[in-house]
Amino acid sequence: MSAIVERLLKLLATNGVRQYGEERVSQCEHALQCALLAEQEDAPRSLVAAALLHDIGHLLYDASERPSPRGVDDRHEELGAKHLREAFGAAVAEPVRLHVAAKRYLCAIDPAYFGLLSAASVHSLELQGGAFTIAEADAFRSMPYADEATRIRRWDEAAKLPGYETRPLEYYRPALIAALRS
Ligand code: FE
Repeated sequence: MSAIVERLLKLLATNGVRQYGEERVSQCEHALQCALLAEQEDAPRSLVAAALLHDIGHLLYDASERPSPRGVDDRHEELGAKHLREAFGAAVAEPVRLHVAAKRYLCAIDPAYFGLLSAASVHSLELQGGAFTIAEADAFRSMPYADEATRIRRWDEAAKLPGYETRPLEYYRPALIAALRS
């Protein structure tokens, strides 16, 4: 079971050197900042793991075989969740799967949140379907793991600080192993 943890850590260490979208941090720096924010809020270990792995869907491809062309939503949240579900279960996979919907939700219920989005994030929001309507936001809120996904989404937006000091990737190995479905 822990083989998947080694694979995920390696993926973050290798493909994770890629730039995080148009932000000034790498994918791995972004993941580590997200995980640190989760820890600082005393999130349970499954949510720290989900924070670290929320964008793993972006790293499952080689740079030469991008899953979708520019200007198309890559559905990385579905891909990531699919990759994680069997080993980690819903407590990790569902917040990952819902973290994009959580952005659409937050934009619907919190005008200040929209103001926090980077230009790249505003652009991807359009590709992802834009802010939820009130009815969609209500439906989202009642889904299992909607709260966890919303917390990840807030850390996600904050985890784009160039040069921000984090813990090393290796630090998270025990947390990832502990988050595996027993
Ligand atoms: Fe992210």
